[in-house]
Amino acid sequence: MKSSEILTCFQCGTCTGSCPSGRYTSLNVRRIVKDSVKKDISGEPDLWMCTTCYNCQERCPRSIKVTDAILQLRSEAVKKGRILPAHRKVCRFLIKTGHAIPIDDVHSAIRKKIGLGAPETVHKYPEALKEVKKILKSTGFDELVK
Ligand code: SF4
Ligand code: SF4
Repeated sequence: MKSSEILTCFQCGTCTGSCPSGRYTSLNVRRIVKDSVKKDISGEPDLWMCTTCYNCQERCPRSIKVTDAILQLRSEAVKKGRILPAHRKVCRFLIKTGHAIPIDDVHSAIRKKIGLGAPETVHKYPEALKEVKKILKSTGFDELVK
């Protein structure tokens, strides 16, 4: 997104009023937009409270690509090594197991009981884990979450 677009924000608050996440967390998307043009907010934990539902982007009267901007801000934060501990943990799971949230024994048993086998992932094809690790390494993902 061009920074000139975000400068057209007139702080109407439609984004905040439309934000489902803001009802349950400290996320105030109007404030995120405002602060992002003034300072480095890559360390803001609220950046990670957005569920990327796109409500704000669809409703912004200035057609500012609010959600896309949040995603861009997150990417910049990650490049600076600013990842929430919980997310870092999930990333490590992905590197280790090929799944962000691997299926445990209890849920594997439930799946079996209702006629679902292992999903079409490394759970079913454990030999693919080597390839997953290779991709994550070649993209630099493993370095980012160290
Ligand atoms: S809805 Fe758009 S114009 Fe209104 S505060 Fe949010 S980003 Fe700014
Ligand atoms: S995309 Fe994110 S910031 Fe925008 S309304 Fe949805 S949860 Fe809120």
